[in-house]
Amino acid sequence: MEFIDELKIFSLIEDKNHCSVELQREILYKSKEAKGLTLQESAALLNITDTVLLEEMYNTAKDVKEKIYGNRLVLFAPLYVTNLCVNNCMYCAFRRDNKELTRKSLTVDEVRNETEYLVGQGHKRVLLVCGEHPQKAKMSFIGECVSTIYNVNVNGGNIRRVNVNTAPMSVENFKTLKTFGIGTYQCFQETYHYNTYRQMHPDGPKSDYAWRLYAMDRALEAGIDDVGIGALFGLTDWKFETLALLSHAFNLDHRFGIGPHTMSVPRLEPAFNAPAAHKPPFAVNDSDFKKLIAVIRLAVPYTGIILSTRERAELRRELFAVGVSQISAGSRTSPGAYKESQESLREHEMEQFQLGDHRTLDEVVKDVCELGYMPSFCTACYRSDRTGDRFMEFAKSGTINLMCVPNAISTFQEYTNDFASEATKETAEAFIKSETEKLKGATKLKTEKMVKRVNNGEKDVFF
Ligand code: SAM
Ligand code: SF4
Repeated sequence: MEFIDELKIFSLIEDKNHCSVELQREILYKSKEAKGLTLQESAALLNITDTVLLEEMYNTAKDVKEKIYGNRLVLFAPLYVTNLCVNNCMYCAFRRDNKELTRKSLTVDEVRNETEYLVGQGHKRVLLVCGEHPQKAKMSFIGECVSTIYNVNVNGGNIRRVNVNTAPMSVENFKTLKTFGIGTYQCFQETYHYNTYRQMHPDGPKSDYAWRLYAMDRALEAGIDDVGIGALFGLTDWKFETLALLSHAFNLDHRFGIGPHTMSVPRLEPAFNAPAAHKPPFAVNDSDFKKLIAVIRLAVPYTGIILSTRERAELRRELFAVGVSQISAGSRTSPGAYKESQESLREHEMEQFQLGDHRTLDEVVKDVCELGYMPSFCTACYRSDRTGDRFMEFAKSGTINLMCVPNAISTFQEYTNDFASEATKETAEAFIKSETEKLKGATKLKTEKMVKRVNNGEKDVFF
């Protein structure tokens, strides 16, 4: 655990030199190059309090994100397949001691139903989520769920990338997971602060801090080369958590030449019978939350920053502008809830935590367009072998946007033709047109050709 150096992190936070406005301004200037920051430089930016400098940091984070990925925002939805869990995380409604939670594991038919619902909304990316359970969430079950999701096809619409968020595995099991054809493997450390970790995870397999911390090393060793890390903000000091999360990213990049494909920043939400969720020990307010997202963007420019529907719509709008690049929409956090919520309100008896953004995918898409971001349903990279170090090469050099922008436009055109409501369609058509107009040379020609193919009825047009 040598790369999470608690003493060093706390000393960086407390170092008064890092509060110097001159130093902070210098670091901000450097960050415009989109080459990333050191831990020390990140600490100095987390300490910015000057309002003018803060605004400058937010604008720089937006510029850096757009330099790498363009103005696209990738959309996905989580799919919960079981809420059975042997762990006892103090913040989660799925915790073993929550005897009042209605437990459910989906059958293959139910996974298919859920997927059909999501495909029917227009989703192309799913994040499979489950509790940790040696019987109910074993490898064969996860494999069956992934292949069921990939096999659903509704009028040519399908899920083209399944990412998974599961408990850490052995190298052998990661090798098996890779054979399922997953996109990114995600696992959040929750808190990098050792003593807090022990308090929050009193028993069960998750109580092993180091097993979780080295999950990505094992995944990479097993050949899964798109990995997603994250911290659950609210469990300990937010500056500590941010710097520890960055330490993790730097360490993976240093050791494997592959940094995190994504970084997630969930904030603690209220959860049924979960003591730490109702009174987060270190609740992070909105402005600190915004600050830490901007610093992550500047420190790790190439990573995808994920913002979920845990956050309210108004705040999400504000956070898109400081470097977020992937968002969930139209989400539910209990197994079977997509179909179930059509029929009853039972989903709340089974959900993991409460959501802040309840809008449908169509509503989010329209809003995102109106804010000037291109909704993207792109799943091209891992199907074009742009994963791991190949992806990093494009992302670190900022050339990935030559692919992201046309792929975003063509997949958004497909969404618009197949799923958008009349109101969204009108906004989307105008936006696609004006954004394509802004492109130049070969990229513009390529995009126009791709859009034409989509409008002629072709599906899944990407490069
Ligand atoms: N059970 C596996 C695990 O814990 O790694 C995988 C899925 S778990 C359902 C997904 C994530 O939900 C956790 O890693 C945690 O960060 C987040 N989570 C749990 N309780 C939460 C809460 N009350 N508010 C916000 N996020 C929460
Ligand atoms: Fe189980 Fe994951 Fe919830 Fe912990 S966070 S109780 S491991 S589902």
